[in-house]
Amino acid sequence: MNAPESTLMRKQHYEANKLAKRLHRLAGQAIGDYDMIRDGDKVMVCLSGGKDSYALLDILMNLKARAPIAFEIVAVNLDQKHPGFPAHVLPDYLTRLGVPFQIAAQDTYSVVKRVIPEGKTMCSLCSRLRRGVLYRVAGELGATKIALGHHRDDILETFLLNLFYGGTLKTMPPKLVSDDGRHVVIRPLAYCEEKDLAAYAEVKQFPIIPCNLCGSQANLKRMEVKALLREWERRHPGRVETMLTSLQNARPSHLLDRNLFNFSAVAATGVASADGDKTIDSIEFCCE
Ligand code: SF4
Repeated sequence: MNAPESTLMRKQHYEANKLAKRLHRLAGQAIGDYDMIRDGDKVMVCLSGGKDSYALLDILMNLKARAPIAFEIVAVNLDQKHPGFPAHVLPDYLTRLGVPFQIAAQDTYSVVKRVIPEGKTMCSLCSRLRRGVLYRVAGELGATKIALGHHRDDILETFLLNLFYGGTLKTMPPKLVSDDGRHVVIRPLAYCEEKDLAAYAEVKQFPIIPCNLCGSQANLKRMEVKALLREWERRHPGRVETMLTSLQNARPSHLLDRNLFNFSAVAATGVASADGDKTIDSIEFCCE
């Protein structure tokens, strides 16, 4: 190896190390901030074969090895019988890793194809069926937490989709009770950027399984919002991170939801308050 090559390799190694440290720090921080994992938990990590869930499993295993608490990890993949699904990839990888795992095979693909007319979007029924299977498996395994690989950008895109199209101010929270009320779902990658996870997947050479095997169209609205965030970040670096901070800093008194804040009770107190209305004279809100 010549000198420029070895310098390049050292630099790549340094960058990969920095990336891994950042992702582990952010995941650890999110887990702590939202009290996601406690001593004695059994965490079922849902693996799709995509970059995010591989990274989630990898990071959780590393954090487990050095955590001051004891918790278990079990990886679960649902083989939905999509045409061309390489069924050996995940079992081979997980066996090499030495992590307990279960592959739940259920042909949700045929059900979706039978029920949904050609050309209509299949995702809603598909994900409902997938959820049902994963909840059942979590119950059978005695899992106390279900970990999903959604990251910061998923959270922000979902927030904007709900804002623009859903008429509601909500997103994927870092921790929530499942819709059947029986499980706690956690998102340890809530603070991690998608581009970091993509770079990590390359560094770690995860055996990615393509995500278009079901033949469903890409979600165009989500793609649009993703592009919008990317463009915004390009023009105003750091603003996307601020969006996440904003979601952690909601002020019901400064929104319009009458169920979250009792506007009838608003009355002058005669006491100055930093939370009082100042937007009248704020330069940012000036019409010029
Ligand atoms: S993209 Fe395919 S696998 Fe994913 S939810 Fe939609 S139909 Fe199901």
